Amino acid sequence: MTTSAAVPTGSDGAMTGDGSVTDRLVDANQTYASEFTDPGMDARPVLQVAVVACMDARLDLHAALGLELGDCHTIRNAGGVVTDDVIRSLTISQRALGTRSVVLIHHTGCGLESLTEEFRHDLEMEVGQRPPWAVEAFRDVDQDVRQSMQRVRTSPFLLHTDDVRGFVFDVRTGLLREIDPAGGGAAKSA
Ligand SMILES: [Zn+2]
Repeated sequence: MTTSAAVPTGSDGAMTGDGSVTDRLVDANQTYASEFTDPGMDARPVLQVAVVACMDARLDLHAALGLELGDCHTIRNAGGVVTDDVIRSLTISQRALGTRSVVLIHHTGCGLESLTEEFRHDLEMEVGQRPPWAVEAFRDVDQDVRQSMQRVRTSPFLLHTDDVRGFVFDVRTGLLREIDPAGGGAAKSA
């Protein structure tokens, strides 16, 4: 954690004035809301699809996949890995909100490729306790997509595991490359 003396800090600890990125977001929201009209949408995604993707800032899911507001559920975390909490969201997505398909998206140049499980050890040394979660670092992005597909397909909590497809998004070209769940790296034609 770093602090900057140049940025005034309010008594509650929140940054005030020009320096806060959150203030900028709130300002942008006021502009957004001034032009917003209630689309009258149902909470159930129109395309009945849930997309699980990395939180990477270079991945604009809606633009990259031609998605519109209301089309899909978007579940994102570091790496786009299928953790217990992703299964929790997918279970609610399918059982309460009617989605049937799952799309998994990892990407080139992911930060998790440069981490190892040593990250947990280093954290424990620094703060005195080991985090209960795995870092889910990986070396081979294709293999990690396969493992993520397998975790979804074998989950006992999900209603629909027949349409689960995994991809690697290239942050330089914007293209998706499909991963064959059987391995070998060849993209499945579909
Ligand atoms: Zn990433």
